[in-house]
Amino acid sequence: MANTDPEIADVVRSELGRLRGGLQLIASENLTSPAVLAALGSVLSNKYAEGYPGRRYYGGCEFVDRAETLAIERAKALFGAEHANVQPHSGANANLAVYSAFAEPGDAVLAMSLPHGGHLTHGSKVSFSGRWFTPVPYHVHKDTELIDYDEVRDLALLHRPKIIVAGATAYPRTIDFAAFRAIADEVHAILWVDAAHFIGLVAGGAMDSPVPYADVVSATTHKVLRGPRGGMLLSRAEHAAAVDKAVFPFTQGGPFMHAIAAKAVAFREAATQEYRSYARSVVENAAALAAALESEGMRAVSGGTDTHLALIDLSATGVSGAEAESRCGAAGITLNKNSIPFDPAPPAVTSGIRVGSASVTTQGFGTSDMALVGSLVGRAVASDPATDVGRKTLQQLSEETAALVSTKPAYPR
Ligand code: PLP
Repeated sequence: MANTDPEIADVVRSELGRLRGGLQLIASENLTSPAVLAALGSVLSNKYAEGYPGRRYYGGCEFVDRAETLAIERAKALFGAEHANVQPHSGANANLAVYSAFAEPGDAVLAMSLPHGGHLTHGSKVSFSGRWFTPVPYHVHKDTELIDYDEVRDLALLHRPKIIVAGATAYPRTIDFAAFRAIADEVHAILWVDAAHFIGLVAGGAMDSPVPYADVVSATTHKVLRGPRGGMLLSRAEHAAAVDKAVFPFTQGGPFMHAIAAKAVAFREAATQEYRSYARSVVENAAALAAALESEGMRAVSGGTDTHLALIDLSATGVSGAEAESRCGAAGITLNKNSIPFDPAPPAVTSGIRVGSASVTTQGFGTSDMALVGSLVGRAVASDPATDVGRKTLQQLSEETAALVSTKPAYPR
């Protein structure tokens, strides 16, 4: 690549340098294995394979059929699912397929409100979900910051939604899937669990599985699960045909066979004992990081976390989420601003940040390292780059961050 396209070669090298040189605390990212990257960069990328294994619209699919069959069988075994579709190009595509399989335009869909942690595809007006369907948002309780299951039930009885969605983008706690199932049964709704964020914890046994409760589970494969960027669907056997038709031909064309092979690799990696202990460490590290940030004068929304992510309220620091993201960036720490429940600040500013432990745990950091990570974040947030002393501190912090990550580098040489 250096010879063919030195500009893009430089982008790739620079990104590798960024990953090696800083702390990655974005809750939706991870560091995939060389085997996953090898599958992604393979000749399987060339192949058209519209259809499903054994039922393709193109010749020459004998090898990619094997890859997709392995991915499907491994996903079913890993999650105890009756049916798996590994073709969605992304989490949003998987979600579009769920709507297509189970609802008609205009139908009511009950899902978590975006500012309380839901995803854009759960009913935002800027997404197909809010434009083509009728979103009914539920919320977290003001005092506990936990899902208000009484409100979920009241809204379900009032609106009789076609689909009820459990799962979120910025919710740090476990979800009571049994409670959602009971509500869905009461109103004869489809229960869809969007497990994009936590499916990797489920794979490693670090979180209860939604599969026994849900009609359909959508997920991404690139977060805690540590696979390639992509999506997947798990469902009950009775919904298999509807799910498959909703992915292809309804919402997608040719599957990305290189990505599907990489998903198969990730599922195999996730079925190991090593991955199970990784998943446990991810949860322990997130809890330790949340505690460390609390000791820096910040507040963990809902009082902590049960998962790989913590949502941090910065109100007491007087620094916005956007400003904190930028200050941490200057200190070599990548994280994102995030609205907190009942946030008075607009979404481009926010009063919070979201932190996740998937990448740092892949690098080998443990709970004893999280105090230092929390201290780096805390000091960065408190350093105002408009002042000389703030700029100097951020520079010092970026050196401390580089020293810390050099002890356990991402993609060691
Ligand atoms: N669903 C949830 C809950 C998510 O958090 C995300 C992404 O963060 C998605 C869906 C969309 O996934 P993708 O970015 O792969 O489209």
